[in-house]
This record gives sequence, structure tokens and C-alpha cells, in this order.
Amino acid sequence: MSIRIGLMGGTFDPIHYGHLVTAEGARVEFGLERVWFVPSGWPPHKSAMDVTPAEHRYLMTVLATLSNPYFEVSRLDIDRPGPSYTVDTVEQARHGLPPDAELYFITGADAILEILTWKQPERLLERCHLIAATRPGYDLERLESTLGELFRRFRHRIAVVQVPGLSISSSDIRQRVRRGQPIRYLVPEPVVDYIYKHRLYQAPTGREVVAG
Ligand code: ATP
Ligand code: MG
Repeated sequence: MSIRIGLMGGTFDPIHYGHLVTAEGARVEFGLERVWFVPSGWPPHKSAMDVTPAEHRYLMTVLATLSNPYFEVSRLDIDRPGPSYTVDTVEQARHGLPPDAELYFITGADAILEILTWKQPERLLERCHLIAATRPGYDLERLESTLGELFRRFRHRIAVVQVPGLSISSSDIRQRVRRGQPIRYLVPEPVVDYIYKHRLYQAPTGREVVAG
């Protein structure tokens, strides 16, 4: 049987239990041999000034995944100059893997809806499976009505995994730090320590100022 590798892309600013519980759920459900967490370099939708430097995000991701023997962190996107596009990440991840290896890109169901705005969605769906994390009860109908033809063509490539903890978000965590509210039990303990040690998220960034 060909090997199956999960890819969990994200800004991870910071990584939280929503990401971790999703990756672990997908790993078990789809029999993934490993899950590679891939912190983005320069997120295409976010300006460089609004995002914490990549090395901080990378190290927090390493700390958060340390205790899981199936989780690894990849520097693919961080070390590649320019914006991180999923299709480029998937293609690069293939290098060094057996040709019949199957890649599963894990994403939140909301992020999958952005697929039409991603660079070359068809090319992406030809090269990997997509696993969309949803709340229990959510089904694929909304994806179908939003994505239309693209969804029907690639229906066999898109799967859904239901996960708890979907309301945890990095933006909420950043806001909590700024307001002095607790973030314990939303992110792994070593990540909490890292955030305070390096005084991350103390001042509002461009995106939070805009968001109010
Ligand atoms: P932000 O609030 O800054 O947008 P985020 O919490 O969405 O951050 P990202 O790094 O943008 O985190 O997300 C990386 C991937 O993880 C995306 O595919 C996103 O949909 C998914 N994701 C984010 N939060 C959760 C969650 N609580 N449960 C499951 N998946 C999630
Ligand atoms: Mg997000």
C-alpha cells in the first residue's frame, strides 16, 4: 500500500489545540503515516507586517508537536521566498517521497471555501486529497453549493472530518493575550510560556486594528 502523508498548512500565529486535535483526528481516520505541519512563510492574504516572524511561529509549532511521534514540522514554506501557495507546498513536499505516495492536505472547512481563490485549484486537487475539518453536523452540501462544478469534478478528492474545538482561533488567542485574558488550555503549555517569554501579541498588529 502506498504511504499517506498529511500536510497541515497554516500561519500558526500561534498554533492551538484546534489545529492539533484536527491533525490527530485526520491522522487516525485516514491512516496517515505522518502529519507534517507547514508554517507559512509569507501568507498570500496577509501582509508581512501583520504576521509574527516565521521563526517564532516555527518554534511554537515545534514545541506544540513535540509529544506526538507522528507529527513533524516542515520548513518548506518558511525557507521558500515569496508568498506560500498551497499548490507549491504540495509539489515540493512530494520531492523525496515515493512516486505513489498520497498527500492529504488538512484544512478547516472555512479555509477550503477559499479554494477558489487559491492559485490553481484544479492543479492542487489533481495532486492531493483535501481533508476539511468541520463541526459535527456540518455536511458537504454547503461546499457543493459554493464550489459548484469544481466540487463535482473533484468530489472523490475531498473528505470531511468532524472535530471538536473548532471555535478556538489564533486571532482570539492574540486578542486574549493583548487583553490580559488567559490562554492556558487553548494552546499547549510550552507555547503559553514561549508567548510570554518573547512578549508576543502584546501590541495590536495591522489586522487587529482594522478588525477593531
Ligand atoms: P486566524 O484566527 O489568525 O485566522 P486560525 O486559528 O484560523 O488563525 P490558521 O493558522 O489560519 O489558524 O489555520 C490553519 C489551518 O487550520 C486552516 O486550514 C484553518 O481552517 C484550520 N483551523 C484553524 N482553527 C481551527 C480549529 N479550531 N479547528 C480546526 N481547524 C482549524
Ligand atoms: Mg484562519
